[in-house]
Amino acid sequence: MRQAQDYDAVIVGSGAAGGMCAYVLACSGLRVLMLEAGRDYDPVTETPMFQTPADAPLRGAGTPEKPFGFYDATVDGGWQVPGEPYSSAPGTDFRWWRARMLGGRTNHWGRISLRMGEYDFKPRSRDGLGADWPMAYDDLAPYYDKTEALIGVYGSNEGLENTPNSSPGVLLPPPAPRAEEMLAQARCRELGIPVIPAHLAILTRRLDAARISRELWPDNATARRVTEESMNRRAACYYATPCGRGCSIRANFQSPTVLIPPALATGNLDVITDAMVREVTVGPDGRADGVHYVDKTTGLDERATGRTVILAASACETARILLNSKSGLFPDGLANGSGLVGKYVMDTVGAGVGGQIPALENMPPHNADGASAMHVYMPWWLYGEQAAGRLDFARGYHIEFGGGRKMPGFGFMGGLAGFTDGAYGRRFKEECRRYYGSFIWFDGRGEMIPNEDSYCEIDPDGVDQWGIPTLRFHWKWSDHELNQARHMQRTFASVIEAMGGRVTSSVHDDGARAIAAPGVIIHEVGGARMGADPSESVVNEFCQSWEVDNLFVTDGACFVSNADKNPTLSIMAVAWRASEYIASEMTARSIR
Ligand SMILES: Cc1cc2nc3c(=O)[nH]c(=O)nc-3n(C[C@H](O)[C@H](O)[C@H](O)COP(=O)(O)OP(=O)(O)OC[C@H]3O[C@@H](n4cnc5c(N)ncnc54)[C@H](O)[C@@H]3O)c2cc1C
Ligand code: SF4
Repeated sequence: MRQAQDYDAVIVGSGAAGGMCAYVLACSGLRVLMLEAGRDYDPVTETPMFQTPADAPLRGAGTPEKPFGFYDATVDGGWQVPGEPYSSAPGTDFRWWRARMLGGRTNHWGRISLRMGEYDFKPRSRDGLGADWPMAYDDLAPYYDKTEALIGVYGSNEGLENTPNSSPGVLLPPPAPRAEEMLAQARCRELGIPVIPAHLAILTRRLDAARISRELWPDNATARRVTEESMNRRAACYYATPCGRGCSIRANFQSPTVLIPPALATGNLDVITDAMVREVTVGPDGRADGVHYVDKTTGLDERATGRTVILAASACETARILLNSKSGLFPDGLANGSGLVGKYVMDTVGAGVGGQIPALENMPPHNADGASAMHVYMPWWLYGEQAAGRLDFARGYHIEFGGGRKMPGFGFMGGLAGFTDGAYGRRFKEECRRYYGSFIWFDGRGEMIPNEDSYCEIDPDGVDQWGIPTLRFHWKWSDHELNQARHMQRTFASVIEAMGGRVTSSVHDDGARAIAAPGVIIHEVGGARMGADPSESVVNEFCQSWEVDNLFVTDGACFVSNADKNPTLSIMAVAWRASEYIASEMTARSIR
């Protein structure tokens, strides 16, 4: 549909941040326009729920067009998006995963939904590195509760250090651990590593729609109605299919099944897909008055106007739009008076180790179903060691792991080759039965400390297919990240050995070889950070630009640090808080 009117808010992007802003603002009665560069996408009708690897070309293996496999939910995206290049400066190998579809990367994300803890908001005060957030955990806690209640997150409250509890009644019950998870739990206990229920945005039972919508919107009948109706359309997970394909029964969190439908049902939201935003425009008064976008279906430049503009295009895309929004008033890009747009980009520190566990061989057939990701995980546990100066890196990591008796795909057969000594025929089948379910993989997800050498900027030599200048990335890990990656690999090897297994992948003494390339963990944040001081930040704690009061940055670009906790739950909580602020400021006419 095309713009018919002036909107209260123009939102760029429809993923975690854009979807949440649209939901909260439309529920609050604002007239909202959402512009999404990708195509329309409906997980209910488009998700291949029951197809097996055998039904797919190459047994579903990844290809350059579908790097995460044939059935991955990502359409028109991946490490490369045709016609939309990016580059890395010499010495940098940054990988940038984008999705061009309604809902963005929420269609196939891992759904791991961890809260940042109280330490994570004040890292500089604790160890002198990086910067503090202009808010504390307690400021965001109510929005974590709301977000978890709305999207549905399973997990438990364990009361562990810097691993916050949710309010009572918010979390859904976690699924029972599987065999390999129980074995890891028992052995990790001996190593002093806690193994607790994971937190994932998957419904282990149907939501109590009437209660939750009443608690979320006590004074707003429309919001209550659309939220309740939308929740009632979501079924509980039936533990059968991989979430990375999307979910046609709406049991996991995707923006197009959880956030956009209730926002549309208010009648206050219009969505234009295939709308690639090129820049934010400003009036003579220096205030944002809308955006220019390319209608990808016609190739024509279009314009959308609104009283506020909210950038939620994903961290680096948002930085790109700001840097490309140059004018006489803002020659270095919009909201960039501090010179910090594009700066302090962070990913997560990642390193992994795999192993084979004889104790898990020849398991009798049993039901190992469950949510399509882990049921338990290990939160960071070495706060004491760190405080005592016994670690050679700052901050921490949590451990995610997988294995077990999932439907075998291409990877299982590849992994078997090293064990079966060239067997074929009947012996090969016996070997398959023996080894099936005995492989395990541990992945660390750790905090990167922001630094001045990790940033994105406009590439002077690059434009996309519409002539929009593209990004160039620069990157440098510090010793903190490299030493942390080495520590991860050593830890995982010791866990595998404690499980009686043998390590099947490399364990490096050199952290630079252990660590995943920048961007690969797909947790990139920063580039327009928030702060308390306009000379040190781009936006304030409500994601509001210091220089342009009706311009907001609600995605991960506003992150000040990137705790080991996967960022998306925090992106949504921050976006909810900012949206509430926008709605109240617009009602009070503080933002005209
Ligand atoms: C395989 C995978 C696994 C992941 N697992 C996890 C996990 O377990 N836990 C976790 O916390 N995070 C995870 N993530 C990261 C998570 O997906 C992102 O943090 C989250 O989606 C970011 O939300 P966003 O709204 O900022 O961006 P996105 O979800 O990427 O949405 C941005 C949207 O904006 C659109 N857009 C971009 N530029 C423009 C433009 N110029 N004009 C108009 N529209 C534009 C894009 O097309 C896109 O639809 C994972 C990501 C991947 C790919
Ligand atoms: S595992 Fe559950 S939530 Fe995930 S896609 Fe399958 S049914 Fe949906």
